[in-house]
Amino acid sequence: MDSSPAATPAFTLSLAFAGALLASLAVKFWLATRQMRHVALHRDHVPAVFAARITLAAHQRAADYTLAKGRLGIVATALGAAVLLGWTLLGGLDGLNVALRDAVQPRWGDMAYQLALLGAFAIIGGAIDLPLELYSTFRVEQRFGFNRMTWRLYVADLAKGVLVGALIGLPIAALVLWLMHAAGSLWWLWAWGAWMGFNLILLVLYPTLIAPLFNKFEPLADEALSARVQALMQRCGFAAKGLFVMDGSRRSAHANAYFTGLGAAKRVVFFDTLLAKLSPGEVEAVLAHELGHFKRRHVAKRMAAMFALSLAGFALLGWLSGRPWFYAGLGVQPNVGAANDALALLLFALTLPVFGYFVTPLFAQLSRKHEFEADAYASVQASGADLAAALLKLHEDNAATLTPDPVYARFYYSHPPAGSGWLRSAAP
Ligand SMILES: [Zn+2]
Repeated sequence: MDSSPAATPAFTLSLAFAGALLASLAVKFWLATRQMRHVALHRDHVPAVFAARITLAAHQRAADYTLAKGRLGIVATALGAAVLLGWTLLGGLDGLNVALRDAVQPRWGDMAYQLALLGAFAIIGGAIDLPLELYSTFRVEQRFGFNRMTWRLYVADLAKGVLVGALIGLPIAALVLWLMHAAGSLWWLWAWGAWMGFNLILLVLYPTLIAPLFNKFEPLADEALSARVQALMQRCGFAAKGLFVMDGSRRSAHANAYFTGLGAAKRVVFFDTLLAKLSPGEVEAVLAHELGHFKRRHVAKRMAAMFALSLAGFALLGWLSGRPWFYAGLGVQPNVGAANDALALLLFALTLPVFGYFVTPLFAQLSRKHEFEADAYASVQASGADLAAALLKLHEDNAATLTPDPVYARFYYSHPPAGSGWLRSAAP
């Protein structure tokens, strides 16, 4: 024996993974605690800038909602870390893999075994997450009056989601697994191409085929509002296939609006909850903000970044999947005489977010910069006062806190926190 176990690459990876997981947990708990303490401390005073617009009762409701979600978040974080350790270093994935491999691979071959492994992993993972999701929907959201979901609808959604997930997920998984096996040492380049193509197809199919399975979409009937919105889009030089109202109120009282689709198939979708809360001028301002994201090329930039990051990811996976220490270091014995590709995909998907967590503030900052730019665009194309009023209304109705911890907001917030940006100018 001339090398101690401490010197093996597998052991180094185990150590790095455990260290990153611990460090990310420490940062997450520290930030969550800061946020909750800050919000609790400011619970009894509406910030002076908003005092004329926001009642103390609304402010306290937002604080209580933030605290309730914060407590739930801490439980979810702890559970997530335990489950991740269970899958990896504690041998959960290894056990599942051995059982499925021995049962499926000899009779039905590599592809069937690997799809079974991915499917079983998804089902077990979903089942583990389910209790907290139920608690979040039927306890926390319910308590604050946001939940509109019935048990019946929840079960129907779940069944449809599993079905759609299997119909879409299994073919793309099979294609990627086949490329990993058949496309030689540059398989990751081919797999990346397939993955990108798949994402583009989804972008087109989602609004027309998938979203209608879950919600009703009706053309915007309000003619005055429709004319106003059309005029705005013409002013901004923006073509969309239609304006739709979605029955978001079926599931939740939270309000939203979004663009979806690609190229000429783009459509604008308003949640009915948004139209119920905002004046026509405010709706126009919100839409102008969304248009700002297109006009400032945020959407194209985001897409390019997604393409580049996934290329880097596939290249990294291509390199890692050929090293035995990648599996052993994460608690899995690589197969001998059976394909390891599904294992590589799962281990990669499990561990990458742990290391990726530390770049969260970078992406959050970039996103806030884009939000500022979209707000600036909207204040030119529509009314700045309407925009500020709409943002404040959405904050109030969604019970978003007006007093976040500055460090927490810096780390996570994808949108400018209250007290900065356009929201601030909502003050009289
Ligand atoms: Zn935005």
